[in-house]
Amino acid sequence: MASLTLKAITKRFGKVMALSRVDIEVKDGEFCVLLGPSGCGKSTLLNIIAGLIPQDQGTVLLDGQSVDSLAPRDRDIAMVFQSYALYPHMSVSQNLSFGLRMRGTPKPTIRESVQWVARLLGIEDLLDRKPRELSGGQRQRVAMGRALVRRPKLFLLDEPLSNLDARLRANVRLELKQMHHQIQGTMIYVTHDQVEAMTLGDKVVVMRDGKVHQIGPPEAIYSYPSNTFVATFIGSPEINLYRGMLVRKDGLPHFQGAGFSLNLGRLQIDLKEGEVEVGIRPEDIGTGQAESMDLRAKVEMISYVGSEKYIHARLGDEALTFCAPKDTALQPGNVVHVAVDPGRVHIFHKGRRI
Ligand code: ATP
Repeated sequence: MASLTLKAITKRFGKVMALSRVDIEVKDGEFCVLLGPSGCGKSTLLNIIAGLIPQDQGTVLLDGQSVDSLAPRDRDIAMVFQSYALYPHMSVSQNLSFGLRMRGTPKPTIRESVQWVARLLGIEDLLDRKPRELSGGQRQRVAMGRALVRRPKLFLLDEPLSNLDARLRANVRLELKQMHHQIQGTMIYVTHDQVEAMTLGDKVVVMRDGKVHQIGPPEAIYSYPSNTFVATFIGSPEINLYRGMLVRKDGLPHFQGAGFSLNLGRLQIDLKEGEVEVGIRPEDIGTGQAESMDLRAKVEMISYVGSEKYIHARLGDEALTFCAPKDTALQPGNVVHVAVDPGRVHIFHKGRRI
């Protein structure tokens, strides 16, 4: 396996700036997820890494060596796509061994590799079947097996689970994570699904409009979003984000929103006063009757999601969503005292975290 370094990768399609100076460092054995909305440049970046399309500027390095001048087949990279692209007339076993046979790998090695990967993916009983005799999840496993069997330096996976239904998707995701632990392969995984990114990635790269917005472990991306885009893109239900003024009262910072004021206590904020945006995650909002709870919200709607309830309320002139236990007695129309730990409030100035 290898480390991957992308240096200032830039790609234009006519007037569209698909990628703009993308710098990413992926360690040997790391599971890196490229996450972003449709059109942000994820697939273009994957294709550049694989050598399928050339970048305009920048360098792709595997283990510190530039591979820019190498053809795709010489880069020792395996790709798994959303469409399984299995050969329909070949058995599972033949599909798995195809790449090795093309490379002239000795037969005993091929047999051993196919058995290893079939065991790893739990598809030993399916080796004689044709792709049409498999379920979607099984086909996807074979497609992954075909990439794994070559034991390449790097795996590129482009939304490989998006053809699967939600339940199967969750199962295959778990299998993929376990498999990654076993083989310790370097993986670059593309998705626009934040849950997938957070559950799979050792490292998540959040992208938009061809630019990298933040790189970090899932916990850091979630807890310290670097800007309002990352803050709103990650997290479900979405973070509550309000525009307003930062003011000082008796030297202490307060956020003056539309129809409500939030005491930010002893929060250290570099900015003296001025326009800011404040983000509060729904699970960071507490309810109760304590005197310190000076905020009041009016409950408008409640959605039940099994493990808990999401309360949709009105705070001043703004909408507020917060999480409550599944047995909460709150009803639409109730007025509830809410409190927020200032330490959990995210503050942004001109879109950037401060
Ligand atoms: P999705 O999740 O929808 O697959 P993505 O993040 O993978 O999106 P890309 O497919 O990399 O996005 O596309 C990035 C941008 O480049 C988009 O604006 C897209 O329209 C444009 N683009 C991609 N390929 C081409 C091409 N061959 N010709 C022109 N424009 C292209």
